[in-house]
Amino acid sequence: MEKIKMTTPLVEMDGDEMTRILWKMIKDELLTPFIELNTEYYDLGLEYRNETNDQVTVDSAEATKKYGVAVKCATITPNAARMTEYNLKEMWKSPNGTIRAILDGTVFRAPIIVKGIEPTVRTWKKPITIARHAYGDVYKGSEMKIPGAGKAEIVYTAEDGTETRELIHNFTGAGIVQGMHNLNESIESFARSCFNYALDTKQDLWFATKDTISKKYDHTFKDVFQEIYDAEYDEKFKAAGIEYFYTLIDDAVARVIRSEGGYIWACKNYDGDVMSDMVATAFGSLAMMTSVLVSPQGYYEYEAAHGTVQRHYYKHLKGEETSTNSVATIFAWTGALRKRGELDGNKELMEFADKLEKATIDTIEAGKMTKDLALITTLENVTVLNSEDFIKAVRETLEKMM
Ligand code: NAP
Ligand code: MG
Repeated sequence: MEKIKMTTPLVEMDGDEMTRILWKMIKDELLTPFIELNTEYYDLGLEYRNETNDQVTVDSAEATKKYGVAVKCATITPNAARMTEYNLKEMWKSPNGTIRAILDGTVFRAPIIVKGIEPTVRTWKKPITIARHAYGDVYKGSEMKIPGAGKAEIVYTAEDGTETRELIHNFTGAGIVQGMHNLNESIESFARSCFNYALDTKQDLWFATKDTISKKYDHTFKDVFQEIYDAEYDEKFKAAGIEYFYTLIDDAVARVIRSEGGYIWACKNYDGDVMSDMVATAFGSLAMMTSVLVSPQGYYEYEAAHGTVQRHYYKHLKGEETSTNSVATIFAWTGALRKRGELDGNKELMEFADKLEKATIDTIEAGKMTKDLALITTLENVTVLNSEDFIKAVRETLEKMM
């Protein structure tokens, strides 16, 4: 069989620990036998980030702007323990944070649905994709403990020195206050990323805030979305047969639980933090969750939602067998390859991505899976495979399909 050719390179961001091991196995077993893989390789493993003073992370993000599509392996975000473990010059920032700051995007997370790994919510039949705004609000807030009686105010001082004040509370005793902000520009790019992703995946878009209570703050989010929708997306949505739907956050939560899924749920920063953990858990496993960063300019960076699976890596280093789930990492590759194919008009590449996803799902549905899934599956007589054997089982399924 002739290998599939790629006209434009994919930006490949390699990573750390167990996911770095899986990365290589996936390439060797599932990609290079079938594709003339054309990537521009960036080693985001912690050692090389340290060696290049993290320049490699910046370069990889810039390359994503150049080529449009990247695929990223999970990476270590250094903490005190990692400083010693890797003998780091500095506690380098989270690569995801650095990349997000350069591409300015929204993160979309969707579960991979497989028969036998049943959602806790019985009505959910299709994936629910969470789109989380990744700037501001409580994550960039300032807070104060109020020791006793006194007045707390919000003060805005314009560049010309004019002050505008708003009373928060006349305290008669001790209490607490919090100040937070967001930027119209950031909300606008969040809105556009969501509308573009909805068009891209042909799914309805839901958005919810608490605008009835927060008449200026949350209401601005609602207004920005509506204005951009009316001006730029209404016709495109109608042509695609999809809907934009706004409601209150409490109503949204109730509707999500009653729904059968199959839409994108745009969430403010805090709502997205909380709801994505709820949705991921209710769908079964973090190892079955895909994640893609979409920039307002239409750059895409695909990854798995989980981390580097450190505990398994230490077992691997001791020569012990691991049973690490590679599904989300495989889907990061298929997502990126499909998008590359779409942008280049490369139908073969897109079809290959579809086949590899199907082969992965079929393998699990045939009862062959890693330990994390075997523990929660409703299938009987399952075969628990180690990290490598699972990937080999997917290859066997894939070869039968080719
Ligand atoms: P983690 O790597 O997601 O793993 C936490 C636990 O979840 C694992 O110990 C394992 O549980 C289970 N798990 C996660 N992914 C799995 C998979 N693919 N297959 C099987 N089990 C899986 O989170 P962490 O241990 O908190 O973080 C490790 C490193 O990853 C940290 O240095 C962190 O900075 C980094 N991180 C990176 C990203 C990213 O690059 N996007 C995201 C999050 C964390 P059992 O041990 O019980 O089997
Ligand atoms: Mg969280």
